[in-house]
Amino acid sequence: MTSDDLTRDELLDLLVEEAAEVIQAIQKIKRFGFDHFEPGYGVNHEKLALEIGDVLGIVDALEPHISTSHMQFSRHHKIRKVLEWKKIVAERQKNA
Ligand SMILES: [Mg+2]
Repeated sequence: MTSDDLTRDELLDLLVEEAAEVIQAIQKIKRFGFDHFEPGYGVNHEKLALEIGDVLGIVDALEPHISTSHMQFSRHHKIRKVLEWKKIVAERQKNA
């Protein structure tokens, strides 16, 4: 079996689940620390890496169903947009 055996709706359901697991892993880092180890869970930052990998695996499988050009555009510009907004907010706070 391959990812072609999963429907678009099944892949979207999996993406929702995996995105939620990324959020959960981030929240554990914020509560207990980046390097915290919990028996039965592991090291927080390693768990986050695994969950991000799960998301990327689902995204790879979704490629036949979604616009990869839009995805690549956003991927390459996201940090630049965040930095632009950070600069705008800092200027506003400086002038307030
Ligand atoms: Mg997962």
